[in-house]
Parts: sequence; structure tokens; C-alpha cells
Amino acid sequence: MPGKAKRAIQQREAKRAMRIASYADDRGSCEAAKRSVIMAKRGQGKTSMMKFTDIIGQESLKHNLQSALLTGRLSHAYLFSGDEGIGKKMLARTVGAALLCQNPQETDGRIEPCGTCPSCVMVQGDTHPDLRIVQKEKTNYAVDEIREQVVQDIVLQPMIGEHRVYIIPEADRMGIPAQNALLKTLEEPPSYACLMLLSERPQALLPTIQSRTVGMPLKTVPQAKIEQYLMERERIPDYRARECATLAEGNVGRAIEYARSERFAEQVRQTMKLLTELKELSTPQIMERLQTLLLAAETEEAEGAEEKKPKKKGLKDAGDRELARFLDLLITLTRDALVFKAGAENRLVFADGEAYDREMACLSWEQLYGRIGLIREARERLSANVNTDLVLELLFLGMRMEKTYG
Ligand SMILES: [Zn+2]
Repeated sequence: MPGKAKRAIQQREAKRAMRIASYADDRGSCEAAKRSVIMAKRGQGKTSMMKFTDIIGQESLKHNLQSALLTGRLSHAYLFSGDEGIGKKMLARTVGAALLCQNPQETDGRIEPCGTCPSCVMVQGDTHPDLRIVQKEKTNYAVDEIREQVVQDIVLQPMIGEHRVYIIPEADRMGIPAQNALLKTLEEPPSYACLMLLSERPQALLPTIQSRTVGMPLKTVPQAKIEQYLMERERIPDYRARECATLAEGNVGRAIEYARSERFAEQVRQTMKLLTELKELSTPQIMERLQTLLLAAETEEAEGAEEKKPKKKGLKDAGDRELARFLDLLITLTRDALVFKAGAENRLVFADGEAYDREMACLSWEQLYGRIGLIREARERLSANVNTDLVLELLFLGMRMEKTYG
């Protein structure tokens, strides 16, 4: 069995053991909690702890949070905002780990969780009784979910240390009643509590929620930094790091996802192939290729989440995120064709697509710019909720006819 798969199984086992043990702990068995820590340590081996230094970019936010942790002046409520994949949860969990750590480390005025104390191990295994990541069953939080998991839970004294940490992912998925329920807690939080709300759309939250939380907007990270990170941490070659970092547009989580996905590299090659052969394909053949390209991705994601999805019907099932990324990929590939045509080969994003670039360079400048126009138009139509199959069919027919723009 490859090391990666084995480690994943060990981690799952350890997590399960921790969960079982923490239930026992709820009933007052300290022994069970201790055992769970030992088991988790054994299972997870030398998996590195999440630390502030592991988070690239976000320098000023990290600095603020680390100083607040060091001086004991952490606020009771934060609102971390930014796109999906930008690192909101990772940052919040690291703050939680540092706050709960029994042996925090300090170097040059910077604090880090130690990574080895029982608290750190439990945070890592998502089983710390004083760190709660609030869950929801449906798309939106039910008001009772906020009441039970936060409002009523937060009045309980910390079980292990001196703090209780609450992370609320997708906080804008709280309706008005749920937000109002939370508001009371935000107005008078217990002294030991720290609440961290995460949101992609912070402006969708009630102004009263926004004003009672300290805003922490996460920023995109410079491409060069992401490339370096991918090469060092994900151990991928420079040209792949460049591909992933370019497409991720400053979003570290997304870049890592591209870097780890074997499917992504394959998707790029298959898309190049589709574009190269476009003229020889019939419309049903094009649609079939798109199905394979986009819905294979969906299957991979669904398997990862260990849940079964109903049978696929159309390209819409690929999901908005996947479709948006596919259109980004089409734009990047078309730009590459322009770059190649201009003779600036050292500036190609996908350096190993020479056959594709040669073929595309046969198109005129107008035709290539026209393609970018068509892709942007498709993007607008998709965001206006036009039928996905129709939009993509029109896009590829348009490209096949080499309709030009402007
Ligand atoms: Zn620790």
C-alpha cells in the first residue's frame, strides 16, 4: 500500500478512536481521554501540526493575531472573510490551537502552538472538547443548531484549559433568526470564549454581527510565493507549480488542490486535445467529451466526500465551482496560444503543450481574441443561470466556427 494511503487510513482510525474516547470523556472518564490521545499520537505518527509559519501570506493578520495571543488580548469574536480555499479555516484553527495549547512556543515575539501537547494533538484530530467547529445539516444553519452548538454550549466552563473556541464556517449561511440568536452571545461572551466566524460573503451578515466582530479579511497571495510553496511543500516540479499557481489566482487552497489532483493534469491534457481536434468533431462528440472532462471531476470529489450522489443528468451536475474553473482553464489555454504566437514561449503557463500551441497558432489573432470573448460571454451566461449544456454547446460551436469579436 502506498505511504500516502496508509497514512490516510491511520489518520481516519485515530480520529475515530478520539471521537469514541471523547464521548466517554463527556461522561467523566478521564482515562478514556488520555487513552485517546495516546492512540491518536500513535496513529498520526509525525504528521506536522498546523502552525502560523505554515500559512503563506496573510502576514499582517498573522502578526496581529500572534501579538494578541501573546499579550492575552485576543478578541472574543472575529470574522475571517475571503474566497473559498483562501485559508480562513486553517487560520482560525491555528488561532484555536495556539489558544488551547498547554505549552505554546515563543520565538522573536511570535507565538506558535507546540504541536505535541495533548491539547494540540486533540485539535489536530478534531476532538478537542473545547474547540468546536459548528456543524449544519442543510445548506443553511437552523436556528436550533446555533442555539444548541453555540449559545447553550458556550456557557459551559472549559473542560481542559482556560478557553473555549467556536468556529462557525460559512457564517453567512445563518438566517436572520439564527444570527439574532447568536447576537446575544456576541454581545456578552463569557471571558473564556473565542468565536471565529468564517465567511465568503461577510456583507451578507447583519450589520450588528459585523460590528460585534473584529474583521479579518484574508488576501490573495502573490503567485511567486504560491509557486515556491508548492515546490517546497507539495514537491512538484517548477513548471507544474507555475501552472497551478497561475490558475489559482492567489488562492492557496485552490493551488494546493490543483497540485494534488492527478485528475487536474489529465483534465488539462484532455482539454488541449479537445481544442486541437475541435474542427473534426460533431456536436454530440464535443458534448460527450465535455461530459467526461467535467463529470469525472464530480465523481472524484464525491468519492472523496464518501457520499453517493444521484445519477448525473447534464453538465450542470459538474457544479458551479468546477464549471467556473473549467472556463478559467479555457482562458488560460487561449492566452497561452496567444503567447506562443507572439514568440514569448518562456511566458507560457503550460510549458509542455507544444502540439496544442502549434495547432492554435494557426488561428489568426482575431480568432484567438474572439475565443476569449466567447468564453467570457459563456461565463456571464452561466452566472445568469442559463442552461449549462446550452451555454457550453454554444461556446464550443462558436469556437469551432471561429467567430470573431469586436
Ligand atoms: Zn500544544
